[in-house]
Amino acid sequence: MARKLAVASAITSVDIMLSPRKASSENEVRVAAARAADITLGDVLGVRVVKRSIDARGRGPRVQLRVELSTDAPFPPPVTTPPELKNVSKKPTVVIVGAGPGGLFAALRCIELGLRPVIVERGKDVRARRLDLAAITQRGEVDRDSNYCFGEGGAGTYSDGKLYTRSGKREEITRILETFVAYGASPDILVDAHPHIGTNKLPEIIAAMREGILRAGGEVRFGARVTGLMVESDGIRGVTLHDGNTVDATRVVLATGHSARDVFELLAAQGIAIERKDFAIGVRVEHPQAFVDEMRYRTKVRGPYLPPASYSEVVQVDGLGVYSFCMCPGGIVAPCATAPGEIVTNGWSPSKRNNPFANSGVVVEVRGPKGDGGPLSGVEYQRVVERAAFEAGGGGQVAPGQRLVDFCEGRLSADLPTCSYPPGLATARVDQVLPPEIGERLQQGLRLFGKRMRGYYSNDAVVVGVESRTSSPVRIPRDVETLEHPTVRGLFPCGEGAGYAGGIVSAAMDGERVAERIAALYPPSTR
Ligand SMILES: Cc1cc2nc3c(=O)[nH]c(=O)nc-3n(C[C@H](O)[C@H](O)[C@H](O)COP(=O)(O)OP(=O)(O)OC[C@H]3O[C@@H](n4cnc5c(N)ncnc54)[C@H](O)[C@@H]3O)c2cc1C
Repeated sequence: MARKLAVASAITSVDIMLSPRKASSENEVRVAAARAADITLGDVLGVRVVKRSIDARGRGPRVQLRVELSTDAPFPPPVTTPPELKNVSKKPTVVIVGAGPGGLFAALRCIELGLRPVIVERGKDVRARRLDLAAITQRGEVDRDSNYCFGEGGAGTYSDGKLYTRSGKREEITRILETFVAYGASPDILVDAHPHIGTNKLPEIIAAMREGILRAGGEVRFGARVTGLMVESDGIRGVTLHDGNTVDATRVVLATGHSARDVFELLAAQGIAIERKDFAIGVRVEHPQAFVDEMRYRTKVRGPYLPPASYSEVVQVDGLGVYSFCMCPGGIVAPCATAPGEIVTNGWSPSKRNNPFANSGVVVEVRGPKGDGGPLSGVEYQRVVERAAFEAGGGGQVAPGQRLVDFCEGRLSADLPTCSYPPGLATARVDQVLPPEIGERLQQGLRLFGKRMRGYYSNDAVVVGVESRTSSPVRIPRDVETLEHPTVRGLFPCGEGAGYAGGIVSAAMDGERVAERIAALYPPSTR
């Protein structure tokens, strides 16, 4: 099947469908696209794939490509080197709290707009952070400032690096993806329908961004936990750090992520308005990757030309959504606690996604007030579940596990299948670790998943507790126009922790947006 889309003066765009093997060959793509466009092969001077997705319907999986052909010149290659940033060392300072995607992209955009970012980050640089991740997986020891959520690159560094978002803002998304490519990501992310980077590649990319910020005269301070905001009647004056030092600024971006509970608490203690927000809670479910491949591609052997398959499901149970979340094909279930005495799971995968397991969060919406209904009640709800998971796991970072059918039928598993979760599992009643309104909906939801995906409902799959940090349980309010906190001038809540993003790309987009609003406050002469 081929579809000719548009003919500009010398560029023609066509949609073609090829076998996975042919789609991996530049020559096959050129030939098929030229044929579909009805252009003589010899007249084609440039070929570029602009969109690529897998179509697993029909008899065998096929690759759907949108290809552009040029008949007057080759296409320029994507930019794969960092941009030359102008020096901002003498420009007005913006303090950015948190070096996650929100904070980093805010910093890079500040530089482009003539402002000097000073990032203060409680964790360590990507390299040093790795040792603390090893302590979690090998010894079950969680450092409160350096873990899977805290440290350079934020929660996004040792993640799957999936770069999709539900946002429809194409231009903004493309800018973010192009920035990742400029700092070292594969240009494939510019064309793949489901782009991802992988844990092995992300640290280098993040470090290159930091180098770019430093070269331009910005500053990045690690081991700098913010413990207070300096607020006067006319607005923010800076931040205080855990060691008593202060960093002065009249513009502060607060991009501390969904796990910085101490930040939510300090805002509440300082009388700075925060609000309760809906979120979701559940478990990680892991199947053999070969099972997901067979289910999706309907073939026993995936072969070298197809990516490991994934699934995405949502069902309604008693008025609330039960849905799969942040699936990691060929990945590892990750221990993401940010304090001792709690178990929190998520997932990551390497760029090749070549581990033998496929894990996904499966979570239930947590809507409306819980507990005392106050702004921190969602945090407390999460905390109770995470502590219960810790107790059920029996200590360290050992997580409670249960076979999938046993989970749904409320039965302790006699033993557990091999699971990718590095600190290991203990057999436990994960269904009872969760509040009944969550556990029972998950049991029903997973049965419904099994009706939609043949073979899914199986005791070869394992349920790992708990997936509790799906998004922030708190929103830090801000003005829709200025993006400033309504009562603290110069304070800019940003990214996932403030409730304005739900992943790497949306946090990065929010960081850029905040930087643009801050720049708009300064007359161009000062920038
Ligand atoms: C294991 C894992 C896998 C994930 N996989 C994906 C994925 O594949 N795709 C995707 O889109 N999303 C994924 N996510 C979610 C994604 O990482 C987040 O949505 C994103 O990082 C949010 O960006 P952010 O900048 O708002 O906050 P964060 O990335 O959370 O960054 C906040 C930063 O603030 C710092 N900080 C916190 N408190 C303070 C303080 N008091 N003082 C100074 N610094 C502070 C933290 O150390 C952290 O570095 C994953 C998350 C995890 C944990």
